[in-house]
Amino acid sequence: MSTFETIIGMEVHVELQTKSKMFCSCPADHFHVEPNSHTCPVCTAQPGALPVINERAMQLTAMTGLALNCEIQSHNVFARKNYVYPDLPKGYQISQYDLPLCKNGYIDIETDDKKKRIGIERVHLEEDTGKLIHSGRSSLVDYNRAGVPLMEIVTDSSIRSEDEAFAYLTKIRQIVRYLEASSGDMEKGAMRCEANISIRPLHTEKYGTKVEVKNLNSFRSVRNAIEYEVKRQKQVIEEGNTVRQVTMGWDEGSGITREQRSKETSEDYRYFPEPDLLNIHLNEDWIDHLKSDLPELPTTKADRFSSRYGLNHQDISVITEDRSISDYFEAILTFDNIDPKQATNWILGEVFRLLNTESEGDGIPVPAKDLAKLITLVNEGIINQNAARTVFVELWEHGGNPEDIINAKGLSQISDKTELEQAIAQVIAAEPEAAEKIQGGNLKPIQFLMGQVMKATRGKANPKLVQELIKKQLVQ
Ligand SMILES: [Zn+2]
Repeated sequence: MSTFETIIGMEVHVELQTKSKMFCSCPADHFHVEPNSHTCPVCTAQPGALPVINERAMQLTAMTGLALNCEIQSHNVFARKNYVYPDLPKGYQISQYDLPLCKNGYIDIETDDKKKRIGIERVHLEEDTGKLIHSGRSSLVDYNRAGVPLMEIVTDSSIRSEDEAFAYLTKIRQIVRYLEASSGDMEKGAMRCEANISIRPLHTEKYGTKVEVKNLNSFRSVRNAIEYEVKRQKQVIEEGNTVRQVTMGWDEGSGITREQRSKETSEDYRYFPEPDLLNIHLNEDWIDHLKSDLPELPTTKADRFSSRYGLNHQDISVITEDRSISDYFEAILTFDNIDPKQATNWILGEVFRLLNTESEGDGIPVPAKDLAKLITLVNEGIINQNAARTVFVELWEHGGNPEDIINAKGLSQISDKTELEQAIAQVIAAEPEAAEKIQGGNLKPIQFLMGQVMKATRGKANPKLVQELIKKQLVQ
């Protein structure tokens, strides 16, 4: 049996978070709004209506290009891509063709601790199409999305497996989120991707015929579709047939790719420079200004966190995954000399738990200073860790002041030696066997006795002090 190598190129479409559409002043937000309410003569292609370029969309695309180590082209031309489809009111899409805004970049990805560089051929700007809604025997069209700025990021063919494709997409989403260029939300269609997949016998130069797979609407479908398509192409070749150049659609429900149409070539679109728009010349100042505006990017941030806070690789990758989380982490550290590891444990534990169960996308409702306060109160022995968690949940759900909640719920820790010694004496009297074992040199039952003391004090005893006192009474 022959062995094959997989060759993948990715095209990722990212909807930009601008206030208005790409070429008109209609709001770009098209989620949860009345169909066709965000439309005007420009984005519905009325005769004589003229487009005006959205500068913010240009900025966000160029910033993405810079983050992907691309060259920003000072000479830019928008082009008409001609095709007919009911969701495209103009009968053409304004896109970029031979002169994209950004080209020749790269991004480093990681899979199973292996680093790899993926080449970025181009990042260009275009407009989104409307949406068709099929209902029964008829189809409805909503043009709210028509003309929303859409950025397309195209890789070279250096991706070799579904794992690398997955890692690449994760990285792209992280970067566009860091730049606040897009929500990167695949479920909502704010990020969509297509994969060009081919295989060739190992150690050969010539590329096989590539098949374009569309409808990859989730990270999982990207992985599954590539795995399926590679297997299908191997089978075609092993049966003595040839792979045809077609466009396939991924059917997530059935887990297979289906042929949609034979692949168009760029000639089919009859590209020509958009006559309603002037060519664009970006000057150095404009580009330099964007460079200075770039936020700290994930890789740089991860390196800084490693050298500055001494966190391990795993913790850093989780904390820097999302920019708002890493900002929250650093905000905690600005208060009261908080230990970075303690802040990390809170974020990985309670913060993520509540974000997953309680939050509806509004971020973290507890101010960083309140969490810093709780960590300090634990360190000072005023409350124990369990009580701190209770206060944190209360702050998350209802807000307030940590100290007020501690007083109202009577959560202050018992650190009074006399009171604790009494509780310990009672527990020892009730559990003579455990006490005897400890006196005999077996220290294991100390944990059990501590548990009993915590129970007797309704969780308020200072655990460190309880342990010390038990040892003092039974071991020394
Ligand atoms: Zn409009």
